[in-house]
Amino acid sequence: MISPRYHREKPQRYRLEAGKCDACGEVHFPPRKVCRKCFTEDFTTVNLPRRGKVVTYTTIWIPPAQFESMKPYVVAIVELENGVRLTAMVAEAPPDEVKIGTEVEIIFRRMQTDPVWEVLQYGYKARVIPT
Ligand SMILES: [Zn+2]
Repeated sequence: MISPRYHREKPQRYRLEAGKCDACGEVHFPPRKVCRKCFTEDFTTVNLPRRGKVVTYTTIWIPPAQFESMKPYVVAIVELENGVRLTAMVAEAPPDEVKIGTEVEIIFRRMQTDPVWEVLQYGYKARVIPT
């Protein structure tokens, strides 16, 4: 089932859009209505940098049914070049390729095929940058 939240977040999923507070400059991803630092409600939409580093990660051995074919896979918290952190599945990498500090870039990939609606859902994932 595709949640209403999924549709609401579509632009940011496709373009990695974040909200930068006009008052204090804090960058929120996903965007928020009110700044968590200064409570201002005025934001400018900014695109996040694509590159970042793995802060921490975990390997998923027993995934939910829709991700069964991808196991085992790594889910990482990535800190982007501007300090914003996001959680992303690491695509196309065996678990032993991902370490704390591994450089990654954010890419767009098919996340899952909804079994009921047969809709392909796309979202962002992280990919290891070859060294
Ligand atoms: Zn603010």
